[in-house]
Amino acid sequence: MPTMLDAVVVGAGPNGLTAAVELARRGLAVEVYEAADAIGGGARTEELTLPGFRHDPCSAVHPLGIGSPAFAAMPLAGHGLEWLHPGLPMAHPFPDGTAAVLSRHVGETAASLGARDAGTYRRTMAPFRGKWSAIARDFLRTQWDGPPRDPVGYARFGMVGGLSAALLARRFQGPKARGLLAGLAAHGIGPLTGIGTAGMALVFALAAHERGWPVPRGGSQAIADALGSYLREQGGTIHTGFEVKRLDDLPPARAYVFDTSPTALARIAGLGNAYPRFKYGPSVFKIDYALSGPVPWTAEPARRAGTVHVGPTYEEIDAALGAALGGRDPSVPFLITAQPTLVDPGRAPAGKHTFWVYGHVPNGWEGDATEVIERQIERFAPGFRDLVLARAVAGPPQLAARNANYVGGDIAIGSVAGLRLLVRPKLARVPYATAHPAVFLCSSATPPGPGVHGMSGHHAARVVWRRLCGG
Ligand SMILES: Cc1cc2nc3c(=O)[nH]c(=O)nc-3n(C[C@H](O)[C@H](O)[C@H](O)COP(=O)(O)OP(=O)(O)OC[C@H]3O[C@@H](n4cnc5c(N)ncnc54)[C@H](O)[C@@H]3O)c2cc1C
Repeated sequence: MPTMLDAVVVGAGPNGLTAAVELARRGLAVEVYEAADAIGGGARTEELTLPGFRHDPCSAVHPLGIGSPAFAAMPLAGHGLEWLHPGLPMAHPFPDGTAAVLSRHVGETAASLGARDAGTYRRTMAPFRGKWSAIARDFLRTQWDGPPRDPVGYARFGMVGGLSAALLARRFQGPKARGLLAGLAAHGIGPLTGIGTAGMALVFALAAHERGWPVPRGGSQAIADALGSYLREQGGTIHTGFEVKRLDDLPPARAYVFDTSPTALARIAGLGNAYPRFKYGPSVFKIDYALSGPVPWTAEPARRAGTVHVGPTYEEIDAALGAALGGRDPSVPFLITAQPTLVDPGRAPAGKHTFWVYGHVPNGWEGDATEVIERQIERFAPGFRDLVLARAVAGPPQLAARNANYVGGDIAIGSVAGLRLLVRPKLARVPYATAHPAVFLCSSATPPGPGVHGMSGHHAARVVWRRLCGG
């Protein structure tokens, strides 16, 4: 008769590993089962193109990772995680060779937006300066968690953040500020008119000013490896290459915690149609490049930024998102790009670079966006194509094959349109619990949603702990 474990975690993404760590360090017996051959889920690093080029197939840049209250409470630096900060967190170039920039300093960002909008930007950010910890704590929380710890700050942030990005952008006059805000809000992959999308833009802007947008030395895998190493130190065990298909596949445990899509959880745990209103959102088309040199951006700030948003205007970004949401082929995509080797040269052979790019496409889209993506890059970095040594492309089918959580290639594990960023995976007082008293959900399909921050795992672990130990 196998020993009864306290908790089994299905899936070793950032949330599954965080949940496992938090339960193990409370003294519980925890095992993790991961389908892939390596841990990490959306935080992986692999040699996808040529020998010596280490690419992040999913997450690359981590404003929410360095700003995560859950990660901050773990000794991850002692387990090998080192954050590297590029010269600029983000640049947003325009075809005339200028750029809006997201800097560590509010003043530099404001100045890059032009005289008409600099003051408005400063005034918009002023109430939140120096308050990242409180804002992250209250906004990366979950609605069942009781009143916010800083109700005044929460209300103040909510008054602006609760708006749509479209309304926030109306406060600004020039294309730079409007484009910058649209690009930040577009990380949510929802319509810019969506309620709360201004909050998405503000959180990313504030994170840049307060914490930076760093990359981990060696790649995103370093985050997963640090979590895995800390888990093992706390007595936890990890099994890889083990796809869980039924609860019976797993050893007996008092709790089963799923870092999976809600639909997979319902299938595996035999919960039938437990999430009838749950909707998957659009997907992305991802390209990882091995380059013979740095990207030749015309705009100088883009040459020293870790992340470059290729839009450029509010209207173009809005149209690109609209196409992905409306099921249309991409024609002029909005691109989120990252150039990790600028600050972490060890990820490529001497003098060479890796370059990370994605644009939005409809869920399940089976086309090839390579041509439209490269045409868009060439607008802002002429000569880019001449530097390409190799490329690895992944559209929705390849993303879904790589990670079962990305249903139809939806990297957010569930639409974030409307109120779906807050109410996920369904309206419930405790979204981490299910109809089965021993089965829990901890993936980014639960609040606070996508990103490598581990906060869904953190909240789920607290629910499991209370259920098991009455704590
Ligand atoms: C292209 C792309 C770019 C991104 N860029 C960023 C970025 O720059 N910054 C950022 O913060 N976030 C980014 N993200 C999002 C981020 O990666 C995810 O939000 C995050 O990884 C979600 O963590 P998770 O633990 O909920 O799930 P995942 O990371 O998806 O992990 C789930 C794990 O569960 C495993 N699993 C699933 N089903 C089973 C099963 N039946 N049995 C066993 N194991 C199973 C999977 O193999 C996977 O390892 C990006 C994602 C993608 C795809």
